[in-house]
Amino acid sequence: MDDKPGIVITGASGRMGRMLLETVAASDDCRLVGALVRPGHDWEGRDVGEAMGGAALGVTATSDALEVFAKAQAVIDFTTPEATVEFAELAAQARAVHVIGTTGLADDDLKKLEAAARHAVVIRDGNMSLGVNLLVNLARKVAAALGEEFDIEITEAHHRHKVDAPSGTALMLGQAAADGRGVTLDEAAVRGRDGHTGARPDGAIGFSSVRGGDIVGEHDVLFAGPGERVILRHVATDRRIFALGALRAALWGQDQAPGQYGMADVLGL
Ligand code: NAP
Repeated sequence: MDDKPGIVITGASGRMGRMLLETVAASDDCRLVGALVRPGHDWEGRDVGEAMGGAALGVTATSDALEVFAKAQAVIDFTTPEATVEFAELAAQARAVHVIGTTGLADDDLKKLEAAARHAVVIRDGNMSLGVNLLVNLARKVAAALGEEFDIEITEAHHRHKVDAPSGTALMLGQAAADGRGVTLDEAAVRGRDGHTGARPDGAIGFSSVRGGDIVGEHDVLFAGPGERVILRHVATDRRIFALGALRAALWGQDQAPGQYGMADVLGL
C-alpha cells in the first residue's frame, strides 16, 4: 500500500471542493481517496474528474461519510457549519486529521469541535492562505505600535454567493488588532452602520462588507490617525491559495498530537 496520506474532500462539488479535488489529485505528496457529496446529489456514483467535465480521477463521489472517512488520513472540509460539526465527529472516530475551512461557526459548533479535538487533530482557520496569515500577524503588531488615536476599520469584499458577513478573515484581523491593543473584540467591534449612528466611539474596531461579482477575497485593515493613515491589504486572486494552504495543513497534521490548531501553527508564524 502507498504510504502517502489519503485525503477525502467534503462538499466536493462546491467552489472550494472542486479546487481541492484538482489540487490534491495533482499533488505528489498525497493520494485523493474520496469525495463526499450530499445524498441524492447528481455527482453521487460518478467519477469526480468526469463530473467536473475533465479526465477521470479514479475516485467516485459518495454520500457515505463514515465509509469514506475510514479510508482517509485527512479530511479537507469547506462546507457549512452544520455539515462540518457532523464531519468532525466522524473524522475523529476515524482518527483522520480534519482540516476545516468552513466559516460562520457558532460557539456551540466550536464546542463540538473541541470535543472532537480530544481524539484527533483538528486544524481550522478562517483563511488558509499564507499572505492572510502574515497580514494577521502584521495587524497585531501595527495595532500594538500605534496608539488609540488611530481608528481601526476592517473592510472586506467577496463574491455575490458568500452567505456570512463579516468574513471569517475579517474577524481574524479584528481579533488580531484587538489583541494588539489589549482590548476585547466583542466590546470594541462595530458591525455595519446605518442612519444616525452618532460619532465613532473611541477605540472602536469597525467592520464593513462588500458583496459582488466573482471577487475571491479582499481585506483591508485601515489605521486612520491624525494626519496619516496606514493600510494593510491582502488581495486573493485565485482560490487555489486556500486549497494549497489546506493541503499543507493536512500533511503537517499527520505528525501532530490530537488537539486544535490554526494556520499560524502550520506555517510556524
Ligand atoms: P459552496 O460553493 O457553497 O460549497 C459548499 C459545498 O458544501 C457545496 O457543494 C454543498 O453541497 C456542500 N455541502 C453542504 N452541506 C453538505 C453536507 N451535509 N454533506 C455534503 N456536502 C455538503 O461554498 P464555497 O465557496 O466552496 O465555501 C465553502 C465554505 O468555505 C464557506 O464557509 C466559505 O466561507 C469557506 N471558505 C473558507 C476559506 C478559508 O481559507 N478558510 C476560503 C474559501 C472559502 P450542496 O451544493 O449540495 O449544498
